[in-house]
Amino acid sequence: MVERTLAIIKPDAVKKRVIGKIIQRYEDAGLIPIAMKMMRMSKAVAEGFYAVHQERPFFHDLTTSMSSGPSVVLVLEGEHAIRANRELMGATDPQKAEPGTIRAAHGASIEANAVHGSDSPETADFEIRYFFPEIESTAR
Ligand code: ADP
Ligand code: MG
Repeated sequence: MVERTLAIIKPDAVKKRVIGKIIQRYEDAGLIPIAMKMMRMSKAVAEGFYAVHQERPFFHDLTTSMSSGPSVVLVLEGEHAIRANRELMGATDPQKAEPGTIRAAHGASIEANAVHGSDSPETADFEIRYFFPEIESTAR
């Protein structure tokens, strides 16, 4: 089943100059960018994006780091794209991420873990509409 998912190359990875390496991993895994933009999120935009985490103790630090510099926001399309991207990313904590994953290679800590990826069809739908309201959230 061809799906779409939202990915973000977070500010820590942009600062490390690994945008190109991360996009190459998506393409090599059959996750094809169909929309992409580079932007610096305001704190309010980061808070809206991560609203699901607003009661978490790390919410302030998370939204501060997401608005600390430019990110690259992408819609990726491919077979089972949501799950495939989660597997490619690795665990949230880079120390626990499986070898060969993006977070194992490029993440420094749980706060600076290089990438975001939607975790379900419902969050993919919300997240794609949030950043790309002109694009359909499901593949055709
Ligand atoms: P994921 O990005 O793997 O889907 P979550 O949705 O649980 O992980 O959390 C969103 C982001 O919040 C994580 O990518 C990470 O940057 C940050 N985060 C999660 N848990 C913690 C934590 N315990 N301490 C600090 N930051 C955290
Ligand atoms: Mg998540």
